[in-house]
Amino acid sequence: MVRTSPSPAVFRFAPSPNGYLHLGHALSALINADTARACGGRLLLRIEDIDPARCRPEFEAAIIEDLEWLGIGFERPIRRQSEHLEFHHTSFEMLKRRGLVYPCFCSRAKLGRAVAALEERGGEKWPRDPDGASSYPGFCRDLDADEIAKRIGAGEAHAWRLRVARASEVAGPLTFREHDAAEPGSPRRAVKAEPLAWGDVILLRRDAPSSYHLAVTLDDAAQEVTHVVRGTDLRAATSIHRLLQALLQLPEPSYHHHRLILDEEGRKLSKSIASTSLRQLRASGASPLDIRERIGLSA
Ligand code: GLU
Repeated sequence: MVRTSPSPAVFRFAPSPNGYLHLGHALSALINADTARACGGRLLLRIEDIDPARCRPEFEAAIIEDLEWLGIGFERPIRRQSEHLEFHHTSFEMLKRRGLVYPCFCSRAKLGRAVAALEERGGEKWPRDPDGASSYPGFCRDLDADEIAKRIGAGEAHAWRLRVARASEVAGPLTFREHDAAEPGSPRRAVKAEPLAWGDVILLRRDAPSSYHLAVTLDDAAQEVTHVVRGTDLRAATSIHRLLQALLQLPEPSYHHHRLILDEEGRKLSKSIASTSLRQLRASGASPLDIRERIGLSA
């Protein structure tokens, strides 16, 4: 009898090349790498470079150099999201054909003013999404087809939003699988997905050819990622990713959202703070082991 061994777990680290990696990225990359090594899994690197205004090749080169310095090796070739936009568009078209997306002509400035006016009129704060941004008030949700055709025909800039309420109805109630630790065998539970908390999220940006939510969901599926291990700041976004997986009939990875590294004021680290960048720490004499120690990982 031929015995087939189970396929290895597939992990990925997926940074955006819009700045230098910091200690928070080191934690995420190392948890992925340590776990992949411990369970005989694969480790992939994906460069999330869909934002042409902020992503730069020199940051991608720096990411690879910093990860190699930390002792993390990745399978080659490395996937760049910007090289797979056609795939994002084909999937988007499937949602479009099903009436699950609509074009939105509102600029960020217009939305800011409109929400301020709504708050003034209503006397209370407009609802926020889990990231703290104002929920989309729906101005473009019900434009008629003629107006849409005219405005797009005239070249008016627009994004495409997901009709989250309708999409949730189509998909029905959803959960995602969350592990307590990054290890595939660790205890896991079903977490209720709450996509409605986000409102009508953008799937194709007006200033970029895809969006974080669409790209991350599609590329995790394309790369056959089985275990998404990332920070707790992205846990809420998983509800949207789970909804897109259900709509597009993509496989469902399991998730582990790890702790974040915070600065002295308790804020999430940012790429703009040089003091926690891996390059700066390396230049000031830190070793990869010092980095592990500083972020609470054993040697
Ligand atoms: N590209 C995202 C970031 O740099 C991470 C995406 C993910 O892990 O899902 O924050």
